[in-house]
Amino acid sequence: MTPSNTSTDSSEALVLDGKATAYAVRSDVAVDAAALTAQGRAPGLAVVLVGDDPASQVYVRSKDKAATEAGFAVSTIRMSADVTQTEVESIVDQLNADDSVDGILVQLPLPRQLDSDAVVDRIAPEKDVDGLTAANVARLSMGRPGLVPCTPAGCIEILDRHGIDLSGKDVVVIGRSQLVGKPFAQLALARNATVTVCHSRTTNLAEHCRGADVIVAAVGVRELVQGDWVKEGAIVLDVGINRNDEGKLVGDVHYASAAARAAAITPVPGGIGPMTIAMLLANTLKASAARQGIQLGSPA
Ligand code: NAP
Repeated sequence: MTPSNTSTDSSEALVLDGKATAYAVRSDVAVDAAALTAQGRAPGLAVVLVGDDPASQVYVRSKDKAATEAGFAVSTIRMSADVTQTEVESIVDQLNADDSVDGILVQLPLPRQLDSDAVVDRIAPEKDVDGLTAANVARLSMGRPGLVPCTPAGCIEILDRHGIDLSGKDVVVIGRSQLVGKPFAQLALARNATVTVCHSRTTNLAEHCRGADVIVAAVGVRELVQGDWVKEGAIVLDVGINRNDEGKLVGDVHYASAAARAAAITPVPGGIGPMTIAMLLANTLKASAARQGIQLGSPA
């Protein structure tokens, strides 16, 4: 490994710095967005926000800010919480038909009365920058090109940018959500890892983890993964975002004890979280370049 965006803590585990890595991805995206704008038009991202959930508002604001900073044309469509299925789907239809829009993101979760799967599946697959439509999920599992969910894509990107190769590694993914666990497992498989997917019914989770070269925790249970579950020299990616009793953000991994044994680990906060927004930008850039028929140089 010859990382450029890294630091080491006292335990000597390499800290995979998601903030710095995301900054590097975003800088590359901004360079490519400028090239795209010069040759055609700026990448267009439309964000649909339904209701007034405070967390969703924060996420949408940070996505809007990041995309604007990267030189994208961003529009946020706000809809009231009592909107009907037909009204949301008709907005998605309009955005599908709008040539200046390359990426459509419907901020989840949607209010209860709405069928989220139907709304998401309405998005044209080539504009599905969250990679959540059935069409893109199928493409990922079939190993065909498509748009990949941002968080697992961010996990792969942070590994790539630190020269960590998954080929031949035993990877344990904890969590099997559509958003993180399952797509990460597919991506790791495509990188020739041997993948075990664990979940709430897994009986011997600690033992699975102890055998792993790479642990990816995407669970939502604070500090579930203990240091003695981590093999000496393993790589640990902590996707979880939880609050402890003091209100502090913590991951799904007990950081201090895991870092004492791991070769490399992502912190929370400042690990996978920033990578997620960076990969949304990378996906939107990719969608825009493809829709405009322009080939770009940077890898992100
Ligand atoms: P999710 O949809 O709730 O899925 C959680 C998964 O963890 C499920 O597959 C569940 O198993 C499994 N699980 C729950 N308790 C478990 C246990 N005790 N042992 C083993 N497996 C267990 O959550 P998600 O959307 O994937 O998110 C996971 C975490 O990542 C959350 O903390 C979320 O906030 C965070 N997240 C972070 C980012 C980011 O940008 N960093 C993005 C997305 C999510 P079953 O399938 O059996 O129920």
